[in-house]
Amino acid sequence: MESKNWIGGEWITPSGEVRPVQNPSDTAEEVGLIHLSDQSHVRTAAEAAKAAFPKWSALSGAARGECLYQMAAVLAQHSEELAQLASREMGKPISEMRGEVTRGVHLLRYYAAEGMRSDGSLIPSADRDVLQYSKRVPLGVVGIITPWNFPVAIPIWKIAPALICGNTVIWKPAENGSLTATRLAELFATTSLPPGVINLVIGKGREIGGTLLNEAAVQAISFTGSSATGRVVAETCARRNIKYQTEMGGKNAAVVLRDADLKRAVPAILSGAFRSAGQKCTATSRIIVERTIYLAFVEHLQQAAEAVKVAPALDEAAYLGPVASAEQYDKVGGYAAIARREADLVWEKPVPQELAGRGYYINPLIVTGVAAHHSLVQEEIFGPLAVVLQADDFAEAIQLCNQSVYGLSASLFTQDLSRAFQFLEKAEAGMVRVNQETAGVEYQAPFGGMKQSGSYAREQGQAALDFYSQLKTCAIKHSF
Ligand code: ADP
Repeated sequence: MESKNWIGGEWITPSGEVRPVQNPSDTAEEVGLIHLSDQSHVRTAAEAAKAAFPKWSALSGAARGECLYQMAAVLAQHSEELAQLASREMGKPISEMRGEVTRGVHLLRYYAAEGMRSDGSLIPSADRDVLQYSKRVPLGVVGIITPWNFPVAIPIWKIAPALICGNTVIWKPAENGSLTATRLAELFATTSLPPGVINLVIGKGREIGGTLLNEAAVQAISFTGSSATGRVVAETCARRNIKYQTEMGGKNAAVVLRDADLKRAVPAILSGAFRSAGQKCTATSRIIVERTIYLAFVEHLQQAAEAVKVAPALDEAAYLGPVASAEQYDKVGGYAAIARREADLVWEKPVPQELAGRGYYINPLIVTGVAAHHSLVQEEIFGPLAVVLQADDFAEAIQLCNQSVYGLSASLFTQDLSRAFQFLEKAEAGMVRVNQETAGVEYQAPFGGMKQSGSYAREQGQAALDFYSQLKTCAIKHSF
C-alpha cells in the first residue's frame, strides 16, 4: 500500500521524499510507503476546498447528512480491513482497533443526524414587527491536524461535525497514520461526497502542518497532538485571528479510596494504564492510593496484572502491543530507565523473549517511591508506565490529583456517594469519572481538558457543533 493525496477529488502521488512504513510489531515487515507532500500540495488543497465550499455549504443539512450516512456505511463494510491496516501501521491491538473503527461508524451516523436538528433559536424582538432568530453558519475551510494514536476515530470526530456544519476540510494526518488515512479517504471517495469537500494531504508536521496553519483560505484549525505543537497552533491561529481548537497532553490520575471495590477498580486502572500501550491522551499515568489500603491494592494489582499480555498487534489476545514508532520507543524507554534508576518497582511484565528486539515492545511498568514533583509524576510519558502515589486521606488525594499542569481526565474509585460527588466537583479535569477508568469516554459527550490540556473548545457531542460553526443573528422587519 502507498499513500496518496486526495485533492479536489483527484488522487495525486507527490514526487518528493518517499518513506517506508515498518510494522511496529515486527519491524522486518514493510507495511507500505508514504509519499511526502511539499507546500504546493497544501495550496492546491486550499484552492479545492475553497472552490467546493459554496455548493457544499448551500446544500440542506439533510443532503449533507446523507453523505455522512454513506461514509458510515462504507466504513462499516470495510471495518475489518481498515482495523488490520491501522494495527499494522501503528501497533494498536486489533481488538481495540476494531472498537475504534466502530466508534468512527457511530460518530458518522451521529453527526449525519445533526443535519436535521434545529440549529438556532427564535429570539423575541422588542418590536413586534421584527422576526429575530439566530442560526449556525459554517466557518469555511477548516484545517484538521491529527495524531497517530487514534488514526480513525480522531479524524472522524473532527471531520464529521466539520462537514455537517457545512465546512470543507483539508486533513493532514500524522506521518505514521498516513496509510490508514489514505485508505479511509479511498473509502469515502466511493460515496457521493462532492470533490474538494475533504482534501487529504500527507506530509511532515512542521512543513505541511505549518503551511496549513498559515494558509490564507483556512478559517479554523482543529488539532490533536503534543503540547509543544499545540502551542504553535494556538499562537499562529491567534495571530491570524482564525478559530482554533487544540487537544494536547494529559497526566491523568486514578484515585483509589480505602472503601473502593478493589476487585473491580484494579482491572479498570490496568486497562486505563496499559490498553493501547498507554498511548491515549486519557491514559491513567498516576495512581493515587489511600495509604491504609496500599498493600491490599498492590496485592490485587499483582494478581490482576497477570492478564496483561504483551503481544503483536494482530494477536487477538494482545492486551497491549508495541509502542507506535522508534521515536516513541526511545522516548518511553528513556522514562523507563529513569523509573528503574530513581523509583521503586511495584510491578513489571517482561516482554516475551521471542518478541524482544522484533518490534517496539516495552515492558509495562508500575513504580512508586518518587516525590510528587518528580518528572515521572509530572510529565506526560505516553507509554505503558504508571506511577503510584500514596495519600494520607481524601483531601490529600484530591490535592495530589490536581497537582498537575494538565487537566484532561480524572477518576475516583469509591463506594462513598458523598466523596464521589466532592471529587466530581473538585477534580480539575475536563472529564471526571467515578468507578470508571480515565479513558473510554463516550462520543456523544463533550471531550476535552482544562489547564494545559487544551484550548477550552470541546470536541465530540454537541460541543463540536459550536466549534465548527459561528452564530449569525438575523432580524427582519416584515411590516415596513
Ligand atoms: P505527537 O508527539 O503525538 O506525534 P505532534 O504534536 O508532533 O504529536 O503531532 C501531532 C500532529 O501535528 C501530527 O499530524 C503532526 O504531523 C502535526 N505537526 C507536528 N508539528 C507541527 C507544526 N509545527 N505545525 C503543524 N502541525 C504539526
